[in-house]
Amino acid sequence: MRKFFIFLLCVIFALPTYAASLINDTELERILTELVAPLATAADIPDGRLNVHIVNSDDFNAFVMGGEDVYIYTGLLTQIKSPDALQAVVAHELGHTLGGHMAQMSQRMSAEMTRTMLIQALGIGLMAIGGDPSLGAGVLAGSSGVAQQSMLAFTRDEERIADDMGVKLMARAKLDPNGFIDVFRQMENITGALESRINPNRINHPLTSERLSNVREQIQKLDSDYVPTNAPTPQQRSEYELARAKLVGYLYNPDRVATLYPNTDTSDAAQYARAIARMQSGNLDDARVGTLNLISNNPDNPYFYELLGDIEYQLGHYDDSVDAYEQSLKLTDNAPQIETALALVLTERRKPGDVTRAIELCKRALLTSPMPLTYWVLARAYDDGRADWARAEYYHMMGKDDMAREYARRAQRSLPHDSPEYIKSGDILNN
Ligand SMILES: [Zn+2]
Repeated sequence: MRKFFIFLLCVIFALPTYAASLINDTELERILTELVAPLATAADIPDGRLNVHIVNSDDFNAFVMGGEDVYIYTGLLTQIKSPDALQAVVAHELGHTLGGHMAQMSQRMSAEMTRTMLIQALGIGLMAIGGDPSLGAGVLAGSSGVAQQSMLAFTRDEERIADDMGVKLMARAKLDPNGFIDVFRQMENITGALESRINPNRINHPLTSERLSNVREQIQKLDSDYVPTNAPTPQQRSEYELARAKLVGYLYNPDRVATLYPNTDTSDAAQYARAIARMQSGNLDDARVGTLNLISNNPDNPYFYELLGDIEYQLGHYDDSVDAYEQSLKLTDNAPQIETALALVLTERRKPGDVTRAIELCKRALLTSPMPLTYWVLARAYDDGRADWARAEYYHMMGKDDMAREYARRAQRSLPHDSPEYIKSGDILNN
């Protein structure tokens, strides 16, 4: 386990400092995608085309790029308490897109920044961002640049238009536009601290109180018999609670976790946050007890098994870890992070059949979501020239082109010329 964490830390250090790091996590992505889907439909974006990305940054921010990629910051997710408010934020950002405010902005954004924003996150879900919180500053240096461009580059008029369009989109999607009121109240609570910290350009941004009274007016213009029939279901609300708890457990220090989720809070979300925080601080036995308790109350939640797999792995209990991940995969389909985690443990356990299964899992994960860590695990699983090819892909994704070329050349020296890995190595060399 130590080896593994050291590896992850190296990976994080290896990222160019201007790259914002994105978080890949099946549970978070699933619930957020579900919550924004009605807005996509209302904005005439075809099914499945609006992608949600989670940016690891404490900024209270979100933006839409290229009309189909929504970037939501962890600083916003951990603070926004209702899914309706989150939908309002995304509706507002889509409002900028529909209002044509984005066209100018993407020109302002350099190609390089776009590329680094799109660098895939590392690691197994949130495991990648555990560890030393001081890492954040360097890794995320660039993300505040993006935040400034997105949050501050709009004029007062553009913000008002985006709010108006956002309310209309919420109504068209049959969601609850009062989410806007939630989010502005939330913003008012943090505005003091935020505004003193942020670039003075922010003064051009409309005041939250102004925006609050404007959306109140817009909401009053809706039909008096308007019913938000598509508003999040109780199930979605509790899934959103769990997703927030997961982020808090991973991102915040134990004291902050204890303040937000005190021991007197026995909700699943609170137990989840505490179990994760305990795992993060190395208290694996208590983390395990908490997770087993969650599982016994919720035997069908795949992500509690995923957490158990992470904990058992760190305890060195490979068999239990494999069983937990297998159970998690049985309960969810298309979960590339969980497939990669299982493959990693299998390449370490190496019972008969483990390596074959690990390769199969990596290939499946790569089909849906190519991640550097998956290539890294695949390289461990192969024992021939394909390992060099997988390393080449890993370095290629990490933006280390010299290393990528070196491994691609090495792969080509030993692989048959008609093999897919030989050809893919050639693609890297020609890149
Ligand atoms: Zn805006």
